[in-house]
Amino acid sequence: MSKAFSRRRFLTAAAALAGGAAVLAAYKYKPLSALTTAEPSARLPYYPPALLGLRGNHEGSQTFTHALAIHEKVFTLPEKAEETYDLVVVGAGVSGLSAAYRFLQKQPEAKILIVDNHDDFGGHAKRTEFTVNNQTVITYGGSESLDSPKNNFSEEVHFLLKDLGVDYVRLGEHFQQDLYHGKWKLNSGILFNQATFGQDKLVVLNDNEELNADNADSIENFPISEEAKRALTLLYTEPSDYLSGKSKTEKHDFAETTSYYDFLANTVKLPEEALSFLSDLSSDYWGHTIRAVSVSEALESGYPGVSELGLEEDESEEEPYIYHFPDGNASIARLLVRKLIPGAISGSTMEDIVTAKADYSMLDNPENQVRLRLNTTAIRIDNQADSVSVYYMTQGQKQLHQIQARKCIFAGHGALAPHIIPSMPEEQKTAMKSNVKIPMLYAKVALKNARAFQKLGIFKLYMPTSAYCLLQLDDPVNIGDYQHAATADDPIVVHMSGIPAVREGDTAREMYRSGRRLLNTKNYEQLEQEALGILRTLFDMAGENLDETLAGIAIHRWAHGYSYEQVGLWDSDEEAEAATALMRRPVGNIHMAGSDVAWMPYLQNAIGEGLRAAHEAAA
Ligand SMILES: Cc1cc2nc3c(=O)[nH]c(=O)nc-3n(C[C@H](O)[C@H](O)[C@H](O)COP(=O)(O)OP(=O)(O)OC[C@H]3O[C@@H](n4cnc5c(N)ncnc54)[C@H](O)[C@@H]3O)c2cc1C
Repeated sequence: MSKAFSRRRFLTAAAALAGGAAVLAAYKYKPLSALTTAEPSARLPYYPPALLGLRGNHEGSQTFTHALAIHEKVFTLPEKAEETYDLVVVGAGVSGLSAAYRFLQKQPEAKILIVDNHDDFGGHAKRTEFTVNNQTVITYGGSESLDSPKNNFSEEVHFLLKDLGVDYVRLGEHFQQDLYHGKWKLNSGILFNQATFGQDKLVVLNDNEELNADNADSIENFPISEEAKRALTLLYTEPSDYLSGKSKTEKHDFAETTSYYDFLANTVKLPEEALSFLSDLSSDYWGHTIRAVSVSEALESGYPGVSELGLEEDESEEEPYIYHFPDGNASIARLLVRKLIPGAISGSTMEDIVTAKADYSMLDNPENQVRLRLNTTAIRIDNQADSVSVYYMTQGQKQLHQIQARKCIFAGHGALAPHIIPSMPEEQKTAMKSNVKIPMLYAKVALKNARAFQKLGIFKLYMPTSAYCLLQLDDPVNIGDYQHAATADDPIVVHMSGIPAVREGDTAREMYRSGRRLLNTKNYEQLEQEALGILRTLFDMAGENLDETLAGIAIHRWAHGYSYEQVGLWDSDEEAEAATALMRRPVGNIHMAGSDVAWMPYLQNAIGEGLRAAHEAAA
């Protein structure tokens, strides 16, 4: 989720191979050496943040969940429980970890087990470490920053963060806001691609902002027709009331029910090339193209062409997007694990968490009061009279296990819950399945230096209709002992964000589902080609050699990324409230957490729902 400095490997189908070949040609793919993938080694200590290649939903992480949800596999359940706990938490994301922590505070003697199907804890809040020239370069693989903590965080969330030692104001001060534009003299830009615009062309804007009325003279350099340039310039510099003649109520209704894309295409009558340019304005932040954004939401997001329609504007204060740890919100997950499992992560402050190495051998130690079991998928949860039975599979093992607990908190993927909790009432199952998550890709490329970017004069690119819509040098944060690149000669990470390119569908859910199908047709090599192909184009433009500069690549594939969030065009407030109220209902001794049950893809919701579920379970 990136608003920058302002607001807001498997089966390869033949069809996908054909599509992949087109991408190959377009991006001049050159295969990588083993340098860019790191496999777990039996000789090295278990340390997932250092694993590269396919991360996020890495290989094997979805085997058992897909067996249940897609193939409807029926498992033979063991009759005897091997372990007993007071609480079992399913899902070691920020929500599950917050829930476990609050439960422990309320019941300090409680024995707790947390399970997660991934090889690392944190859920979407994942940390990746590169080693470049003997230096550790840290980045985030998913959940990036605290989004608007002043306005959007509840008292409870603030309280928890304070308890963890997080002071968001101080965190914001570690963000080097003047580094790229001020010190390195770099600007924002736009990278046009040959497939849509007839040529690969970089247009550098004359400031560090996105395209706006003040820098719209750059449109002159766009590789689009003169007619499209004129229309786009007008849209940015002299928007008019394209809805004149309609009453205030009619305008409001139009803005709520019409997509920004349809408005631009049918009301403003923008030429096709101008529409292509604007199509991904919303993709990085919202996870969908402007076909799923209403005119009202376009106004709220500050998109061009809607300011003079006479619509009421949202007056809420904007907060800068600077509340960021180098590994993103993985630091919050790590701070929680530090509290839950003493000795697993050394230190005591929000500064020293950044460079502290987690000792993964401590996580599932039988001596612990709280145990965290990775690579472990809960495949069924059954209520008993005063307890729950949780059945799980651990990757690499053949047999199922049963554990018993007084309580269970489900903080996993919401739409999976109906398959795991068969006793859930049907109407609640339907509500859970309404949370169709957004497929996303975060490619992280470590470079020995940023000289190519310095030569091009850019640090951040909007890349409409490309496999990745956003490319930027990593958020510049110096915190504790961790120093971000000070000059363009230092190692740095390039962040690329991609939303599988599904442009059409009758609803946002259909777009997300077909985006996921598209994503699932691509193997790791294709994802890597797409990311490196874009970088190669830029390096060629700069006259620099990517192969000599490349130090590593990790692609975080989030087939189920952002939680579903109410989409104005298709969901009413009443529907959202009814669905989330049902999703939050406990099922016997099983309590529901996770940001999914709030239909909200933000850290604050993950924490808030975790705390609420813990209060219920510990009552
Ligand atoms: C790419 C990306 C960027 C984001 N950026 C931001 C951001 O900048 N700011 C922000 O506030 N939010 C951001 N988010 C939203 C993010 O989802 C939340 O911030 C938060 O991390 C969600 O936490 P969670 O615990 O609810 O869910 P998750 O992080 O999804 O954790 C749930 C965990 O449970 C596991 N699980 C599910 N089912 C089972 C099972 N049956 N057995 C065992 N384990 C299971 C899952 O695999 C997962 O590891 C981003 C999300 C993504 C994908």
